[in-house]
Amino acid sequence: MGVPATTLGGTAADAVGLEALVRLLAGRGVVVLSGAGLSTESGIPDYRGETGSRRRGSPMTYQEFTGGAAARRRYWARSHVGWRTIARAEPNAGHRAVEQLRRSGHVAAVITQNVDSLHRAAGTRAAVELHGGLHRVVCLECRRTSPREELDGRLEALNAGFRAGSARVNPDGDAELPQELVDGFQVAPCTACGGVLKPDVVFFGEAVPKPRVQRCFELVDAAQALVVLGSSLTVMSGLRFVRHAARAGTPVAIVNQGATRGDDLAVARVGLPLGAVLTEAARRVRAGSPPA
Ligand SMILES: [Zn+2]
Repeated sequence: MGVPATTLGGTAADAVGLEALVRLLAGRGVVVLSGAGLSTESGIPDYRGETGSRRRGSPMTYQEFTGGAAARRRYWARSHVGWRTIARAEPNAGHRAVEQLRRSGHVAAVITQNVDSLHRAAGTRAAVELHGGLHRVVCLECRRTSPREELDGRLEALNAGFRAGSARVNPDGDAELPQELVDGFQVAPCTACGGVLKPDVVFFGEAVPKPRVQRCFELVDAAQALVVLGSSLTVMSGLRFVRHAARAGTPVAIVNQGATRGDDLAVARVGLPLGAVLTEAARRVRAGSPPA
């Protein structure tokens, strides 16, 4: 048997949950659904949870963003600051353990609610980014996509001397800024057509593209188990996959520090830090597997 879960701390229930998680992973064909809690150890604050800052005010909606230049100026000024935190972040032990389990065939697919691209940075290139990615920008007129770095360089040049100091950053790359800084910010248009640029992420009030949702349902349908990592499942866009799996009789395990909306549907729950739990789970799976 492996090292008892008490080495990770936590309760007896966490130890039982971890054992169940390892059994599910050992059975292979696991689909992962990850959320902001997986990226907190990379220095990206969660909306909630112990390490997180509670968001003040609500995030910008798609309707506000497309509705006026002032809203877009506010978005891009705040995001120009927040992007620094996201772009600097590196995958943590949790992302690396998921990739290790994917390479060993225990994890079949990864769906993420995160827009930070840290699964990709850890090598999980096929991760389905349910809500898109901040590393890409899309033109709302000609639909051309371009790298965020390219826009970032243009915004830097247009806003020389723009200094935000220490701003509070949300996991969607939105930083809290005083209005006077926002007012002076220059926004950049699409270089191809002069149209409005939007980060290639799904805003509140905007639907996830249908083919992407369909792809996720297919992955969940094919899964032997669904493992939720670092999400409180507050938004329906993630919760629906947990409900779908549970309805089909597919076991659901949840690793999250704090209660989630899917807790009553889960066969296993671990409430400990993600990096440590996943590293330990991957170690036990490896120890228990016959050599490939
Ligand atoms: Zn364009």
